[in-house]
Amino acid sequence: MSRADAISAAERYFDDGRFFADLERRVAIPTESQNPARAAALADYLESEIAESLERMGFSCTIVPNPNGKYGPFLLAERIEDRKLPTVLTYGHGDVIRGQESEWRAGLEPWKLSREGDRIYGRGTADNKGQHTINFAALETVLRTRGNLGFNIKVLLETGEEVGSPGLKTVCENHKDLLKADVLIASDGPRLQRERPTLFLGSRGALNFDMTVDLRAGGHHSGNWGGLLANPGIILAHAIASITDARGAIRVPEWRPNSLTPAVKKALADLAVENAEDWGEPDLTPAERVFGWCSFEVLAFVTGNPERPVNAIPPRASAHCQLRYVVGVDAADILPALERHLVRHGFHNVKVKQAREGFFPATRLDPDHPWVRWAEESLARTAGARPAILPNLGGSLPNDVFSETLGLPTVWVPHSYAGCSQHAPDEHLLASVARDALRLMTGLFWDLGESDARALAREKV
Ligand SMILES: [Zn+2]
Repeated sequence: MSRADAISAAERYFDDGRFFADLERRVAIPTESQNPARAAALADYLESEIAESLERMGFSCTIVPNPNGKYGPFLLAERIEDRKLPTVLTYGHGDVIRGQESEWRAGLEPWKLSREGDRIYGRGTADNKGQHTINFAALETVLRTRGNLGFNIKVLLETGEEVGSPGLKTVCENHKDLLKADVLIASDGPRLQRERPTLFLGSRGALNFDMTVDLRAGGHHSGNWGGLLANPGIILAHAIASITDARGAIRVPEWRPNSLTPAVKKALADLAVENAEDWGEPDLTPAERVFGWCSFEVLAFVTGNPERPVNAIPPRASAHCQLRYVVGVDAADILPALERHLVRHGFHNVKVKQAREGFFPATRLDPDHPWVRWAEESLARTAGARPAILPNLGGSLPNDVFSETLGLPTVWVPHSYAGCSQHAPDEHLLASVARDALRLMTGLFWDLGESDARALAREKV
């Protein structure tokens, strides 16, 4: 039996409806992690659905309760053939965001899988049930075709990703030995373009914070006091204007990364990024601006009462802001650097405070890393063309748990696309991309059992 036989078997699994049936069962379990009433569904998804499928393939499975009490459990599973073979860790999440039942188009329901043309609709089809269903099916296809995998595989499936992955880091710290591997290969998020296979190697970090100018207790009549009292809205507008120029190019020196290396530039040069406006760092390409650089955003800005303006100098102004940042920016110094910058520019009364929600560290793997080159070769062999390689996603995900806590090279192969309505009504997976992804992942897992991968794992790169 050959690689081509395995890929044909993966095509048959899709074409004869078994993929649809597997995903249909999984989508029917309403695993809303944002809804406390669904706690039983989260456990059920891991115990009866996923553990059962994995045990059929010879995995031993353990359900670990969330160390952060009120959140959903984790599934840890492993299938060891020989400790000397390469070991892969894969990850997925069984939870989804709320179903938003009343908002789906007529004829569509979040918990009932349905297909119209190239679209397979249902909550979790794109994020993330469809993606881990593809990967588990590809594994099983290789196992059935070859008779063994030729590598060891470990699975970590969480049920709290949509509420910020509570307990994920602690579970990885507590089970470091059980999760020990040579490489992480996992799937989440979108391809850069729907037809082109994509690898991404990390994610931008995100830090949300508030900037506030609070000058006095209440509003003061703008006729009697105008000219005498400072206006906090004007001060805050100028403070924000000192952070970037008028086209959004960042002026805080510490927020300008030094990590746009020739290897990163080379990977980014191959990417087509659409819909770029004339905005941001002027000397960078659109791909360099969104994947290789930081971006500062004002998400909300308020002074006075915008709904009912009155003739008064408002006492206070505030803005909720965000920095998306790449590796090469010191996360611990992001806000101190802003404070120093504001003081240098004379804005002594602008207060900066990190927001409670919305912090992700930045991660990235060198596009020239041997595991990246290996995965690129495998995908190119199956697809007949080179995949797009993103050093990191523009968005954020908890990849630091794998790259830092577990110390793994991280290779992500996303199976969704930008128009998938993830986190919205009418979420869907494209059938054409799912079928293609089954072929690619079957080829990838086939190649993991071959000698090149064994050599890579032995080098412990
Ligand atoms: Zn999500």
